[in-house]
Parts: sequence; C-alpha cells; structure tokens
Amino acid sequence: MASLKVEGATVCFGGNVALDGVGFAAERGRVTGLIGPNGAGKSTLFDVVSGLRRPSSGRVLLDGRDVTRLGPARRARRGLARTFQRLELFGRLSVRDNLLVAAELGPERRHAARTVSEIIDRLGLAGVADDLADAVPTGVARLVEVGRALAVRPKLLLLDEPAAGQDAEETERFAALLRSLAADGTAVVLVEHDMGLVMRVCDHLHVLDLGKIIAAGPPEAVRRDETVLAAYLGES
Ligand code: ADP
Ligand code: MG
Repeated sequence: MASLKVEGATVCFGGNVALDGVGFAAERGRVTGLIGPNGAGKSTLFDVVSGLRRPSSGRVLLDGRDVTRLGPARRARRGLARTFQRLELFGRLSVRDNLLVAAELGPERRHAARTVSEIIDRLGLAGVADDLADAVPTGVARLVEVGRALAVRPKLLLLDEPAAGQDAEETERFAALLRSLAADGTAVVLVEHDMGLVMRVCDHLHVLDLGKIIAAGPPEAVRRDETVLAAYLGES
C-alpha cells in the first residue's frame, strides 16, 4: 500500500496558483524524488503533506487514511517528519541537544539519549556533537536537521533540499544514508537541486513545474523526457 498519496491538491496564493491539482505518491522502502525549477511548488507540496497548509481542494492520505483535515502534530504522530529548506535549528544549543529536543518528542522519548547517540553515529556527527548548531558549516547543519527528523523514527520522511551546502564527500555519504533509510523501510521523499544525487538515489521521480506534475517515472526515463528538458531550459 502507498505510504503517502496526494490527490488533486490545489493551493493558491492570491491569484498565483502554487499547486494545480497535484497528484503524488511515495512508498515505503523507496526514495522518491520531487524535482522542478524554483517556484514550481515543491515546498508548498511538502507544506500540504505535513499539514502546515490546507489545500483549497484535494486530499492527503497516509497509509490509506485521509489526513487532509489533521494538523501537523497529529500527522507527526502518524509517522511523518520533515526538514525545511530554511534551517530551523536551535542555534544556541549544541548539535546533540538539538537532536535530544527532537528525540524527546518521539516514540522513543524514554530512551532519548540512546536514540541520539545512535543518530550521531549514523550521520557521522560525533566530531561536532558538542558544537553549537550556529557554529557548524551549512552542510553539517542540514545533516543535523535530517537527524532531528530521524529522531522521531519516521515512517515517511520529507527532505527539502537537504544536500544544499554539502561538499562532494558529504553528498556521497548522504546518498548512502538515504539508501539505508529506504532499506530500513522508510518512505523517503527528496526535494533536491543536485541532479547527480537525485539520479543516483531515487527509485522514482515526480517533476513539478508551475504547480503541475509534468512527468513521473524512473529517473532514466524522466531525464530523457522532452517536457522535462524544456522546463529546465534556462536553468543551469
Ligand atoms: P519551490 O519550493 O518549488 O521553489 P514554492 O512551493 O516555495 O516553490 O513556491 C511555489 C509558488 O508559490 C511560488 O510562486 C511562490 O512565490 C509562491 N509562494 C510560496 N509560498 C508563498 C507564500 N507563503 N505566500 C505567497 N506566495 C507563496
Ligand atoms: Mg522550495
């Protein structure tokens, strides 16, 4: 069964249609990519899925249950976690404490310290665990954001440009992490501009342009799609 299904989602900001009847799906055990030019509606779709924005029409289903009318906290309790394009860390807390705050909200709150240690190991953050979040480089801060999302043991993980600011080696490790999360049974949704990363890690891609899905399928098929190539013309 699909872990996430979005049907006909429409969102308008004044006269600007950010999402125009968007359908989307993501499954456990897969990395699903959501790509498209700036302003396409990717972050808005994440807002709709996570419950931060109510669509004017359309539905969101988690494991087959309609959650369109549920707020973000109740969706989180059903196993949804996300990161934000704009970093949302507590700058004056250490990396470890940022993770701890998140873990204390999750299903393993009674073993939060153990959960945090495990995440620090998995993400390779041991060397910066006691640094203030403000003081770590952007690429590392994004990894901490991912760690905060993982601390609640999500079944569905939405990542909004998590690799921005990472160097090539960090991106390589990150790709391996995404594959291992999928292998653990998580449904991972990746919004990312690094096409090399997207093509390497995604099992399936959806392409959004001007609020509409213009293509979907395996990465090799999508990269050859004429409509997709046209949408990206003018973008580097
Ligand atoms: P993406 O993440 O693909 O770059 P967004 O979802 O951020 O795109 O934006 C989609 C469209 O909606 C853009 O035209 C953007 O200007 C507009 N938009 C997004 N958020 C808001 C908002 N809070 N108020 C008004 N317009 C918005
Ligand atoms: Mg965005």
